[in-house]
Amino acid sequence: MDKISIAVIGAGTMGNGIAHTFAQSGYKVTLIDVSQTQLDKAISTISKNLDRLVAKQTITEEQKQNTLNSLSTATSLGDGVANAGLVVEAATENVSLKLSIFKELDEKAPAGCILATNTSSIPITKIAAVTKRADKVIGMHFMNPVPVMKLVEIINGYSTSKEVTDFIVATSIQLGKVPCVVNDYPGFIANRILMPMLNEAIYSLYEGVAGVTEIDTVMKLGMAHPMGPLQLADFIGLDTCLAILQVLHEGFGNPKYAPCPLLVSMVQAGKLGVKTGEGFYTYTPGSKELVVSARFRK
Ligand code: NAD
Repeated sequence: MDKISIAVIGAGTMGNGIAHTFAQSGYKVTLIDVSQTQLDKAISTISKNLDRLVAKQTITEEQKQNTLNSLSTATSLGDGVANAGLVVEAATENVSLKLSIFKELDEKAPAGCILATNTSSIPITKIAAVTKRADKVIGMHFMNPVPVMKLVEIINGYSTSKEVTDFIVATSIQLGKVPCVVNDYPGFIANRILMPMLNEAIYSLYEGVAGVTEIDTVMKLGMAHPMGPLQLADFIGLDTCLAILQVLHEGFGNPKYAPCPLLVSMVQAGKLGVKTGEGFYTYTPGSKELVVSARFRK
């Protein structure tokens, strides 16, 4: 039986990885973004990541070509989702944007199509409520970088049907991932636990307890984390971290989730981490060497 067609909305950090992962597993994928530049960048990133897999002999040149041939792009939501059996939305972490995308998706996607969101924190039930198919709306939360990370956190909204959950669990396994089903409360599991830690690391820097290198080194060598919290925040995107903390803060009404003013200020200044070339570290395209941003050099 033919595999269902997939539409991925948003071609940023996560969207390109999600599209890559489905395409490499033999699905036809349409990647949709409002920005043609982002779509071009995403295809180029996927191609470079596949080159790396060919060089490591993880896949063959033919498998790389098949993966690229399975991918197409669109700037219009209607064109992109017309034949989809599953949509995975990975647009910017912003409540009103996601609600408007799901409203439009409900009108334009085929009636039986499952609508999944890769949101890090926005309630699935709230997103589902703007559609007429709340039973078919679910969280499918991939981790960054998607082709490498095994976990998919699957979030059941209040009305998500068991059939839809089972289907997304089976699809995640087909992608070579490990699914973990959780319930719909702010930040789910991953970000409810991760974001307060990243925020605390930023507070430690803000209050002058230690510098960027010291904070990251303590957590890497002391806690055996593969990456320090400030570097991880840069990789996630500081705007995304801020948006998630705001959802936690509002959702629980608890001041312990209030975003650090330094994080707010950096997002206002457009220093978003890897995606803009500067956050707590600076990033030179093509180089993995980290340089502490001039702002934070002692
Ligand atoms: P990003 O900023 O890298 O990319 C977002 C993309 O969405 C951009 O390319 C933007 O042009 C596009 N977009 C904006 N409005 C759109 C619209 N109306 N239609 C189509 N595309 C639109 O963001 P990201 O880090 O890839 O995050 C995407 C989602 O994934 C968010 O919900 C985020 O919370 C979640 N997420 C992020 C991470 C992470 O580590 N960055 C991890 C897990 C989940």
